[in-house]
Amino acid sequence: MKKFSNLRLRGKSETYEILVEDGNITEIMPKIPVICETEDLGGRLVLPPYVDPHLHLDYVFTARKQGNKNNTGTLFEGIQRWSDMKHVLTIEEVKSRARDGVRKEMLHGVQMIRTHVDVTDPGQTALKAILELREELKEMIDIQIVSFPQEGMYSYKNGVDLVEEGLRMGADCVGGIPHFELSYELGERSVHKAVELALKYDKLIDLHCDETDDPHSRHLELLTALAITEGIGERTTASHTCSFGSADNSYAFRMMRNLKKAGLHMISCPTENVYLEGRQDAYPKRRGLTRVKELFEHGINVCFAQDSIQDPWYPLGNGNLMNILDHGIHLAQMMSFEELDQVLDLITVNGAKTMQMQAFYGIEKGKPANFIVLDAQSEFEAISERAGVLASVRKGEFLFKKRPAAFEEKNAFFTV
Ligand SMILES: [Zn+2]
Repeated sequence: MKKFSNLRLRGKSETYEILVEDGNITEIMPKIPVICETEDLGGRLVLPPYVDPHLHLDYVFTARKQGNKNNTGTLFEGIQRWSDMKHVLTIEEVKSRARDGVRKEMLHGVQMIRTHVDVTDPGQTALKAILELREELKEMIDIQIVSFPQEGMYSYKNGVDLVEEGLRMGADCVGGIPHFELSYELGERSVHKAVELALKYDKLIDLHCDETDDPHSRHLELLTALAITEGIGERTTASHTCSFGSADNSYAFRMMRNLKKAGLHMISCPTENVYLEGRQDAYPKRRGLTRVKELFEHGINVCFAQDSIQDPWYPLGNGNLMNILDHGIHLAQMMSFEELDQVLDLITVNGAKTMQMQAFYGIEKGKPANFIVLDAQSEFEAISERAGVLASVRKGEFLFKKRPAAFEEKNAFFTV
């Protein structure tokens, strides 16, 4: 039995205590009259761990590799650069990079990751590596794997078979990239196939969907329609949907209704989207993001993700979800005080819902004692200061604990 004391929870002004037994939360109250080992959290804000629902762990730290530099900064050159280098991968090399990527994310407070893994590789090197890594790290972090055909289900030889093989090998979700298929018709066929495979193997779906400024790229419409007719909206995610930010309002009006009806999950990757999209625009230049604010206002589950850590698609990225949130709320113009009270959902609970992990997630009695401690006392302070994570707790034990930054010297002006 262990107690965490003097902590703040979202939406509450007084401090609370959390009691943990056998790794689970058994009580949450302002004062718990139990004497046991106690950790004083200094009045800081405690959140459920950050969730990164869209990442490419097999690609991390490849941006500077020989011949891998993306000179145009476009999505399509990124895919080409990766295609040119992936034949040299080994399981150990992928695992080593991916482990470093996971470590970085965890040090920023992430405890759940959904990673797409490229299966358009007859040797399935990356998938084997990430499956092994998931097993190795399972006590510390939940990793969900998407069987993702980076070069297309129908535009890459035997792409569909490779996606199916990925599911049989242990991937949790069916992936796809309809806007990259060689024709719109092949893109639509890939959406149908993704749904068919999800039903056949009882898996989730997460498609890279309409990651383009082309307002005519509307695979989201078909994915949503199939999610409704098959009744699998809760299990279905559309990632990116950049074109939805360029589409006209009459299409968007109809889609909001259908998305809500389907219960579909939407993921936006603000830093990558703003970096990769708008590249063919002169001025005005589009932001490249989907309609995050409007989805949020319509009660459609939407969340933010990192997507890339130093790969051919994006030269930066370090797994810091607070940085992603900061970019996202600026780009989506979600900064009314009412919105600022809610936007932490975009990197916490909404991601957990997308991953269908909500039963094990949240600071509630009966759930695993997984949480993070921010260097802030309130949600507003956390966001405005882009507060760092001082500790990450998993099943009641510290994964790590940092000291807050301290001065070596300061003059009287800084003493408050
Ligand atoms: Zn992606």
